[in-house]
Amino acid sequence: MQRLPNCYTLSNLWTKSYYYKMKPHWPLQRLACDRDENSLYLHEKIDIALARTAYVLDRTVFNDYSIASKPIVPGGRVQAVPGSMLNWVAARFDRLLIDGNKNASARAGVTGNGIREIVITLGDFHFEYGLPTGVGLSGQMIHEARHLGFPGYGHVQCRYGLPPIPENFIGPVSEDDTNCDETISEEFENGGSHGIGILWLTWIATRSNWSQWDRDNCKNVVRILLKARINASYAVKNAFFQRYFGESL
Ligand SMILES: [Zn+2]
Repeated sequence: MQRLPNCYTLSNLWTKSYYYKMKPHWPLQRLACDRDENSLYLHEKIDIALARTAYVLDRTVFNDYSIASKPIVPGGRVQAVPGSMLNWVAARFDRLLIDGNKNASARAGVTGNGIREIVITLGDFHFEYGLPTGVGLSGQMIHEARHLGFPGYGHVQCRYGLPPIPENFIGPVSEDDTNCDETISEEFENGGSHGIGILWLTWIATRSNWSQWDRDNCKNVVRILLKARINASYAVKNAFFQRYFGESL
């Protein structure tokens, strides 16, 4: 099983590299490794969560990089996961904001001091459930970063309703019905935000060594997103699930 490094090792990575790739809008501090999780201030929890997320994006070990020869959606391609998704994400935005009132969002805009910045905003609900492992948030960062790159991407109207949420699913679920992608993606350079997020979580669920809990949660999220956030036919979505998970959607 792959595990996160201990907090002091992670703190070194944070101060030397990950802080500058996750680009939070607050000053750099070492991670609060010498205190109990329950006594951490929110901003200290967020730093640890972001460092873990950066680590997952940067260092996830995949057991298998083989890819199918033919894409499920004609005209697409099939790609292996990039060596560092952290660099993929970091290249697409300038600043990370945390907002107590917002769901995750991504936008390009001009900040108060007149500088045009490409901003990802995460709602602080991501940090309400105790310290996350970083796996779930890695998918969220990929989703938001995709909105901002090669070129920017926007969602389309949803064709299906939200399916029942599995009992063991942890996290908020958006009811927004304009929050869908037309189809799936098996490549990391095209496809919508959900499509690429689904693909990343699929690689985690099926080819990484993160905990069984994390991989089960990724599989649940993939199932929910395929059903509720991808407009393609059931046949296409089922072909994707069959290809990567070896079972019906
Ligand atoms: Zn989105």
